[in-house]
Amino acid sequence: MMKFEKCVVCGEADFEVLKSVEWQITGQGTFKLNFSICRTCGQVAQNPFPTMEQVETFYSENINYHLPNFVAELPEEPFSTRLRIRDALRRFKPEKGKVLEIGCGSGENLFYLQKDGWDSYGCEPSPHCSEKAIERLGKEKVSVGFSHDIDIPEVSYDAVFISHVIEHVRDPKGIMRQAMNAAKDDGVIIFEVPCTRQPHRLMPGWLSLEHILYFSAGTISRLAEECGLEIVETILDDEYHLYPAVCIICKKASAKVVHNHFNEYELNKHIVNEFLKADKAHWDGVAKKLEGISEAYIYAAGNHTSQLLFETGFADKANIINIVDSSPIKEGMSLGKHKVISRQRFQEQYKGEKVVVVSYFSEAEIAKSLAELGVKEENIVRLYTG
Ligand SMILES: [Zn+2]
Repeated sequence: MMKFEKCVVCGEADFEVLKSVEWQITGQGTFKLNFSICRTCGQVAQNPFPTMEQVETFYSENINYHLPNFVAELPEEPFSTRLRIRDALRRFKPEKGKVLEIGCGSGENLFYLQKDGWDSYGCEPSPHCSEKAIERLGKEKVSVGFSHDIDIPEVSYDAVFISHVIEHVRDPKGIMRQAMNAAKDDGVIIFEVPCTRQPHRLMPGWLSLEHILYFSAGTISRLAEECGLEIVETILDDEYHLYPAVCIICKKASAKVVHNHFNEYELNKHIVNEFLKADKAHWDGVAKKLEGISEAYIYAAGNHTSQLLFETGFADKANIINIVDSSPIKEGMSLGKHKVISRQRFQEQYKGEKVVVVSYFSEAEIAKSLAELGVKEENIVRLYTG
């Protein structure tokens, strides 16, 4: 574990812990994290947070970005973030040119920009995602690796953007400066991150291992100004599919100006506490559904299972036979004291016990696949639907 000695936004060292967790992560042991708030500016962050090595292992082994509904063909017209970025660039750089996305994922954003007449470049650390991005954009357009390991040419791009990446990094100023340095002097620089607001719209599991930093519109703007950027426009998106998002459109400032930002400590603390109340109610509901189960398999060895075991104490109340996961990488690993087995192994040893499906997004899909393996309907425990 590592620690922020100072707040990444304001530089002060006055933190207050809002929530402490101990999550057992598949193949990686126990992670003890605190979610803290800076009393001087209101930035929320994990502190302590995992080391770079832990995170790299986590991203390469644990998170699998094989989206179940991944389609090679994208719709004709972009939506959500992709639409926002395309339209921002149409407005602020109608003459177009070269664009760079740091952390380009599977290249969806760049695909639409390419179609819109931009010469599109990206870099991406995930091998699986970068493969897709190369498929979409071409080998010479995508660099594989973390941005701090890649030589990004300076003062070269007419536009640079980073979308839903900065919340994952431990050095947000570093990656922002990299974006700024890559842009030409009159270039447009865009950042989009999840936004700490509207607690009722923050989903269970919003405080997560993947997100080290939890920005608000105010704290991300202050950070950009600290890096020498000037905010041209701020767009709040409360309809973003996972949680509210904020997008700031910036240009290089002629002189560094940091506005006198409002201290959001009270406001953001209130939002996080409201979220935690709802989150507790959520897990209490889950625990209730698990009552009376003395023996079961759990399906899926992801973060959601780590959170469920921590929040409900289910492993102390029931015998968890094994955790089943379809990812070949996770087979044979441990999550706490529980072994992860493949679907095939599960099918071989299954004797009619309960199977608890632990997934927000794929519950129906997993339940269906369990029925196909011969698990009877009354033994499939759904936590969210039905
Ligand atoms: Zn601060």
